[in-house]
Amino acid sequence: MAFIEAQGLTRKYNSSVFALNDVTFSVEKGEWLAVMGPSGSGKSTLLNVLGCLDAPSAGNARVEGIDLAQLRGDALARFRAEKIGFVFQQFHLVPYLTAVENVMLAQYFHSLADEQEAADALRRVGLGDRLQHLPSELSGGEQQRVCVARALINQPNLILADEPTGNLDEVNETIVMGLFTELHREGHTILMVTHDPEIGRMAERRIELHHGRLTDVSVFPAGEEELIDNLLKAVWHAYEDFPGDPIVADKFPEFIRNRATFQLMAQEELVRNESGMLAMSPRGEGRARSVIRRHRLAERLFFNTFGLDETLLDANACRIEHTLGAEVVEKLCIFLNHPDTCPHGSPIPRGACCPAK
Ligand SMILES: [Zn+2]
Ligand SMILES: [Zn+2]
Repeated sequence: MAFIEAQGLTRKYNSSVFALNDVTFSVEKGEWLAVMGPSGSGKSTLLNVLGCLDAPSAGNARVEGIDLAQLRGDALARFRAEKIGFVFQQFHLVPYLTAVENVMLAQYFHSLADEQEAADALRRVGLGDRLQHLPSELSGGEQQRVCVARALINQPNLILADEPTGNLDEVNETIVMGLFTELHREGHTILMVTHDPEIGRMAERRIELHHGRLTDVSVFPAGEEELIDNLLKAVWHAYEDFPGDPIVADKFPEFIRNRATFQLMAQEELVRNESGMLAMSPRGEGRARSVIRRHRLAERLFFNTFGLDETLLDANACRIEHTLGAEVVEKLCIFLNHPDTCPHGSPIPRGACCPAK
């Protein structure tokens, strides 16, 4: 049985308005799932139903085998407090309590409040020097990190996050998403509602809602092929720059930002991800070789033929490398007399046209 199993979840607000309409999906333990879709598509309703903040009109949901509809009173309160950590876009901090008191508030549900534990949770999100600050004395990013600390205080298995970076600037978004990356690595199951494709790509899998209906599971937007090319290039560069060094997936920025795509690439046997180590498979290596070859030949062309400044070569090559057909690439290579390196000195992988060395 999966960690979360949603069967025909439906939520009607009156006889005709469906916030959720027959939604069925499952989530494995430790998985990071993004729930995508435009505003009003039912994303938040889905999260609220799974967090027992709202009850479905039909269908059912199980978390760790527990049928949420069967939970009442104490059992429901305990389930929410022990199993689930919520992170919302709105910060929901009590304005006249300090950061550490706000985190401790979550502990009251659970057991005795432990200030030391609350302080540790805040240190973990980088707020060790803000323990006694009121929410009004904290930036938006810091407030959101207090919320993350609060969500984690009881070590919940399931983290439900609703647009957790919605109100944050880029710097704080990076910090907060870094925290989610760490939580995922520790084995927490994460369900994250977002309308932001960049945030969605950090998850391993995506589902998409439209008007309360699940329209797509693991949808990949147009341009995914190009993205895959670029990610394979990044792995190639890592191989080239640090030969022999293993690539730790969770330390590899492109992996962190494109978890879902890497998952797809693993399914397509372009890469392997074994115990957190990322490696190119022979298929991926072949494809990467071809992209790198196109890119560096394009750079060579722009440099030799058009006298383009060296600093502009990379960006211009990126623009055309995805569209060059095999035949054009071969003609280019012959025209340029099978160059060994790009203008930056990086080797150009040999093609079938190139004379043996
Ligand atoms: Zn180059
Ligand atoms: Zn050649």
